[in-house]
Amino acid sequence: MSDMNRPGSAVGESDHIRTGLSKEQLKQAYIDNLFYLLGRFLEVATPHDSYMAAAYTVRDRMLDRWIKTARTYKASQARTVCYLSAEFLLGPHLAKNLINLGIMEVSREAGAELGLDFEAILEQEEEPGLGNGGLGRLAACYLDSLATLQIPAIGYGIRYEFGIFDQLIEDGWQVEKSDVWLRDGNPWELPRPKLRFPVRFGGHTETFQDDGRVRVRWIPDLVVEGRAYDTPILGYGVSNANLLRLWSAHAPESFDFQAFNTGDYYGAVHAKVEAETISKVLYPNDEPQAGKELRLKQQYFFASCSLQDMIRLQLGAAGTLEGFHEKFVVQLNDTHPAIAVAELMRLLIDEHRMDWEPAWEITRRTFAFTNHTLLPEALETWTVALFGRLLPRLLEIVYEINRRFLDKVRMHFLGDEARIARMSLIDEGHGRRIRMAHLATVGSFAINGVAEMHSELVKSTILKDFHDLWPERFHNVTNGVTPRRFIIVSNPRLARLLTECCGDDGWVRDMDRLRSLEPLADDVGFHEDWRRMKTAAKRDLADWLRRRVGVNVDPETLFDVQVKRIHEYKRQHLNVLHIITLYERLKAEPNRDVAPRTFVFGGKAAPGYLMAKLIIKLINSVAEVINQDPQVNDRLRVVFMPDFNVKNAQHLYPAADLSEQISMAGKEASGTGNMKFAMNGALTIGTLDGANVEIREEVGDENFFLFGHTAEQLQRLQAEGYRPWEICNDRFELRSALDLIASGLFSHGDKELFRPLVENLLYQDPFMVLADYELYLDRQTEVSHAWRDPKHWNRMSILNVARMGKFSSDRSIRDYCERIWRVRPVPAEL
Ligand SMILES: *Cc1c(COP(=O)(O)O)cnc(C)c1O
Repeated sequence: MSDMNRPGSAVGESDHIRTGLSKEQLKQAYIDNLFYLLGRFLEVATPHDSYMAAAYTVRDRMLDRWIKTARTYKASQARTVCYLSAEFLLGPHLAKNLINLGIMEVSREAGAELGLDFEAILEQEEEPGLGNGGLGRLAACYLDSLATLQIPAIGYGIRYEFGIFDQLIEDGWQVEKSDVWLRDGNPWELPRPKLRFPVRFGGHTETFQDDGRVRVRWIPDLVVEGRAYDTPILGYGVSNANLLRLWSAHAPESFDFQAFNTGDYYGAVHAKVEAETISKVLYPNDEPQAGKELRLKQQYFFASCSLQDMIRLQLGAAGTLEGFHEKFVVQLNDTHPAIAVAELMRLLIDEHRMDWEPAWEITRRTFAFTNHTLLPEALETWTVALFGRLLPRLLEIVYEINRRFLDKVRMHFLGDEARIARMSLIDEGHGRRIRMAHLATVGSFAINGVAEMHSELVKSTILKDFHDLWPERFHNVTNGVTPRRFIIVSNPRLARLLTECCGDDGWVRDMDRLRSLEPLADDVGFHEDWRRMKTAAKRDLADWLRRRVGVNVDPETLFDVQVKRIHEYKRQHLNVLHIITLYERLKAEPNRDVAPRTFVFGGKAAPGYLMAKLIIKLINSVAEVINQDPQVNDRLRVVFMPDFNVKNAQHLYPAADLSEQISMAGKEASGTGNMKFAMNGALTIGTLDGANVEIREEVGDENFFLFGHTAEQLQRLQAEGYRPWEICNDRFELRSALDLIASGLFSHGDKELFRPLVENLLYQDPFMVLADYELYLDRQTEVSHAWRDPKHWNRMSILNVARMGKFSSDRSIRDYCERIWRVRPVPAEL
């Protein structure tokens, strides 16, 4: 619903019903909103009506802060951080906003007095699934921290009509269902119908003379209009509310009418459909990249709208584009928005008549680039043919950036033609492709990886040549996650305990203060509190799994959890091989003493990633056999939790005892799930990969189950000629586990079903699962032993939580502010 339809008074008046935080004011506002916005009254309101009325009640309070923040920022003339991301995986808003406003408890009481089921209202919210996984979730954590740290910032992205698909499991297989998150309305956003920008596609360019200068005109064959939808993002315990501005694609009205008037009604409708398709659906990642024209359109669309918006703001405030880079710093979240480098050049040169050199000076002082992956298949490139057809003017600009850049490289590395070919923005070797990571790097004053190890690998592998040229531009900013969502909202019992121990809730904004828990790691009384807290979270999860998935699990067992996207590099199949080996051991020796475990999996596979989908089927098939086998099912249970998203994740992280972070070393850039688990007191079994390395450093290696070959060792193994089938010959249990899968035991006798998976492991094993199998099993045996000593286990768990301060996204954002963005807090007053 649009804000223009809202009754009542304007913001800023002393209308306490719209802004007050007392219980009575909240109750009155809720009833008011129910009546005036939804046309309902208490007695007939459905749970969804109640949710909407509650959401509007909270939004009113946020808008008040947002307007005051905007005024403060404007007056301060401070630099604004623009975080450009194709994905924002926000999670449900309501609970988080109640926490950040500091009214969770009073709202709960208000709800009770009105006879409302508060938990049921929270459950109503359909989360905006505008991201695939870690990268989109990181962007959401950063928005929370930016607001909490009072940094002037805008998040820019795409308002996908359909977010990441919902996952159903049918007969053990993943089935995708479209995500219609906007079906029942989105109370958190404000449409800004007047805030719209044209974005061109296709056509051709022409040169013309203008004041004696040669300039270029782009005559497109499609113009799309981007319209802004704003969502306020409130900080924790502060009055600052920042802005998330998402663009929705529409056909410009004039375009529509023109065709209509000439009688081409269907042509007009077609143009409208073509335009609106651009923001229709989020692409699932991990898919073959071939020919995804729409994806390039999406990228250009949101980059262009966002830059036009910044230019509008700059011209409004200063009247000139000189000094643009002093007022805006644009962080590129991976290469998805990298086209912005060329687009800012186009806007400055073609639309604002600047010369190349000053325009380039502004551009390369505006952008900073975060790399998120080293996987070669995930590095974005576009064929010159597609790029030129869709964005002819941008291609010319990319060529010119490249020509000038390569001249510099040539001077710096005289005669090193191989290096020039490697560094070019155009890959001439593979059908002429534009390398988006190179465009982002050349156009940025700072480039960073997302964990120490990853940043080192960026410098020594994919961007090595650029590091040779500009070492000072390379940084590391280790990822973090927000404790507001992943402790307070997800795990209120832990939050209360931490606040009790620290004396106040200061740890929420300064997580290093959790160090004061360390002395309690040996306190018997505290252990009892800790055990109660953990058991309660596990009981909650068990209830939830019973209701949602229909399986019974025992909260007394070790909860061993792997939830994340399903991908071969993350090695869910290594986890499965461990489970099968435990199963075989128990079958061979029924009285064998093993620590009872519940294995929980969750995660989506890209719809076109067949091996990942087969892994899901394998997990479910193994679950079916083991859970029905009375000889073992008192000690082993396997659960696949469908539709892993932020809302479901909140039930899982608090209940885990063991966090599976078992990717092939060198492949996981950082990981953030690893952080969420450890700050909720799970112990990690993990490889030396991504941020695992730093987590282990922080929590202490005696409180972390490390296993596996290092990235260098794996590289050496591969260089020497890796022969996975030979490993099988030496490892009886591994051979046996693979044979069991191949025998059809888990597939009702079908020996073909899992053949591709087994053969892939035996003869290729690109992610070196078999190389790490034995090390993994040995470490898991130690995990089981450690579990037998609850005192020791709890001690480790407490120390994990006490030492996770570094992984608050507040620390990450402070790093960005100090090292890269050079911005300071601008506190807003209410
Ligand atoms: C944190 C999170 C991720 C990322 O998990 P990793 O283990 O770091 O891959 C993915 N999806 C959701 C819903 C998350 O909350």
